[in-house]
Amino acid sequence: MKNLLLFISVILFTTCTPSEKIVKEKNVSANEFAIVVHGGAGYRKVNNERDRITKAKLEEAMKVGYAILEKGGNAEDAVVATIKILEDSPLFNAGKGAVFTNEGRNELDASIMHGKDLNAGAVGGVTIVKNPITAAQAVMNKSKHVMMTNQGAEKFAIEQGLDTVSNSYFYTENRWKSLERAKKRENGNSYIPKNPEYKFGTVGCVALDKNGNIVAGTSTGGMTNKRYGRIGDAPIIGAGTYANNTTCGISCTGHGEFFIRYAVAHDVSAMMKYKNVDLKTAANEIVNKKLVEAKGEGGLIAIDKFGRVVMPFNSPAMARGYMLPDGKVHVYFYKNEPTSSY
Ligand code: ASP
Repeated sequence: MKNLLLFISVILFTTCTPSEKIVKEKNVSANEFAIVVHGGAGYRKVNNERDRITKAKLEEAMKVGYAILEKGGNAEDAVVATIKILEDSPLFNAGKGAVFTNEGRNELDASIMHGKDLNAGAVGGVTIVKNPITAAQAVMNKSKHVMMTNQGAEKFAIEQGLDTVSNSYFYTENRWKSLERAKKRENGNSYIPKNPEYKFGTVGCVALDKNGNIVAGTSTGGMTNKRYGRIGDAPIIGAGTYANNTTCGISCTGHGEFFIRYAVAHDVSAMMKYKNVDLKTAANEIVNKKLVEAKGEGGLIAIDKFGRVVMPFNSPAMARGYMLPDGKVHVYFYKNEPTSSY
């Protein structure tokens, strides 16, 4: 019996030492470049027609980013180009089609982070910037700051010559009706709609380029019926977005308050770094254990330095897709579909 226990512990010890995991990680077959997108986590009733057009838009956006990467372009350009297309589409809760605040306005949040030097930029609560991801990029590249909000961020965007629109540009009837329904359902001071009809719809993209740089970006209108200048996780570096060439790049979607409290995006990267676990292990631990225990609904997309993709979520559905150098398009929504490339 003693011998058996000794044998088992030797096996456990030798299979679990950090150095061995590093060796194993070195043996993975790496992808030279990769791109992954999401169109938000939340509830989704199967609806063939809507699924078809949402899939087509995700695919269109992802292919633009993919073409940049394939030609040897950089991950930052790929992420911004991809997110801009999704922001311009009324199908997603980002840019045109964003959800409404309690006051009936659209207030948008976005961020971007570069994994090479940890440079990052974010905007929160902007109301007139057509493509908030470009404002986040300008904050990253053209300012000494990481985050700008409200009128300050708008002033900066105008100074940078970015496209601006009136707030009514972001209006869609669907989102307006969602606000009306959310207000009717509201009870007490909880402004987060808890109902099976609720969808999120944030967008995000992570890319690894041929130079080994990982960039992550996220853009959102936040949550329907939000108030008091609420800003979610999407523009908070380390919560909704994170990138580090030595570990991974991440974009999150879901109930932002939980993603902020649990510093979700950074936590995945930190777990890889300090515990020497692979991306899939780290992301699953955070999304399917920690967040589930906390009742924080949502998911994330991520790429590690080997170009491997994961897309875990604990909500009923998450619109997601990825492409690797083989050029094959993968787009999924539901639980019974793939959540990683490996
Ligand atoms: N995370 C976003 C927020 O809380 C919402 C979403 O992803 O749908 O603002």
